Amino acid sequence: MAVVADERGSTLVDAGQSPAHAREIQAGLAAAGLPEPRWLVYTHHHWDHVWGACAWPGVEIVGHEAGVAPLRAEAARPWSHRYLREQVRENPLLGHSFRARALAVDCWDGFAVLPPARTFADELTLPTGVLVRHVGGGHAPDSAVVLVPDSGVLLLGDCWYPPPAHLRRPEDGPDLAMARGLLSDDVDWYVSAHDEPVRLAEARAALTG
Ligand SMILES: [Zn+2]
Repeated sequence: MAVVADERGSTLVDAGQSPAHAREIQAGLAAAGLPEPRWLVYTHHHWDHVWGACAWPGVEIVGHEAGVAPLRAEAARPWSHRYLREQVRENPLLGHSFRARALAVDCWDGFAVLPPARTFADELTLPTGVLVRHVGGGHAPDSAVVLVPDSGVLLLGDCWYPPPAHLRRPEDGPDLAMARGLLSDDVDWYVSAHDEPVRLAEARAALTG
């Protein structure tokens, strides 16, 4: 996840993978004396990006409209360690994701999956200038990228990654065409959610050879 600090209110990009993870970030924000978060932008609806949301009271949650239905469905499931185990028994392909969820959450008291309160179809600009733009793609239909214009950072979430393991077909790979389409001279840093940040020149060299 990322924090875009701003005197008008900070923006969180993704919520952390659990309430405990969110609280670690909160301790970091307090230690650094950064302004309170006011917005929480979901890059997409996958659990490891949204399960910390219930530990961020007082933020407005922003997400693409295609994420609402899957998040409502996730919110209605009776999450517990027992439920996770039963689900994996029924569908072993869920093992990778559901075992990780079980490790991430040690206590389910007060846990909730929260759909976005404010949605958008194409793009949305927060009062701080942070721009959220829908890109969709095979990883998640609601994938959005977040541009922080005054620092030249583009936060990519998981947008160009292959679909999650339980939905992946043998022919699925990273969406390099999408990644290429995001190359821009307005961006200095590309930040994927599960990789090291790369500079524009590095991204361009990797994608265009
Ligand atoms: Zn994902």
